[in-house]
Amino acid sequence: MRIVLLGAPGAGKGTQAELIVSEYEVTHISTGDILRKAVKDGTELGRTAEAYMTKGELVPDEVVIGIAAERIGLPDCVNGFLLDGFPRTVAQAEALDKALTNKLDVVLSLDVDENEVIRRLGSRRVCQGCGRIYVAEDVTGDCPACGGKLIIRADDQPEAIKRRLQVYRDQTEPLVSYYRNAGILKTVQAVGDIEDVFERVKTVLKDVS
Ligand code: AMP
Repeated sequence: MRIVLLGAPGAGKGTQAELIVSEYEVTHISTGDILRKAVKDGTELGRTAEAYMTKGELVPDEVVIGIAAERIGLPDCVNGFLLDGFPRTVAQAEALDKALTNKLDVVLSLDVDENEVIRRLGSRRVCQGCGRIYVAEDVTGDCPACGGKLIIRADDQPEAIKRRLQVYRDQTEPLVSYYRNAGILKTVQAVGDIEDVFERVKTVLKDVS
């Protein structure tokens, strides 16, 4: 299955992506994770991307398209993949259509109210060591999994959150119509328990391919 996960920052794309890849045999591709790793490793890509990411801006299309196309071309994507955080612009979606030999099966759009998204992003904490994500209210002290320090991601600071939501509305939301017109858009209400949202996701995926 070839799946795209669409949704505002904080809609729960990463969380649902983890559940989907463990239930279905697909490879998880998160352009955000690839870029964050590049920043951490101090590569040239990382240095280019970091300035955009900390401000909540999108990394330029030509950079991200190259990374995604290369990743999708690797052998572990032959049996399917889940794209999480890509495409984020119409130009990226068009490039993806061109790059794929086999078309996408479904685009899952995670729907959540903007106030809820702001609340979620504001209380998100990430482990500097292993990258696990937590809700601030649920943990005290260091990462329960690896003991690493829990921090607020630079792009989860209030100004960056505001900017990311604006960027989402302006540049990514048009993809909802893009994929609706292509006939492959499915919307999932992404509110309530993680497990309940995942049940809705599975119901949608049952009808696909
Ligand atoms: P994410 O973890 O998916 O929210 O991505 C974190 C940040 O990485 C975003 O705010 C962007 O700066 C950058 N990024 C990730 N994916 C893309 C993409 N498809 N296009 C442009 N920038 C991206």
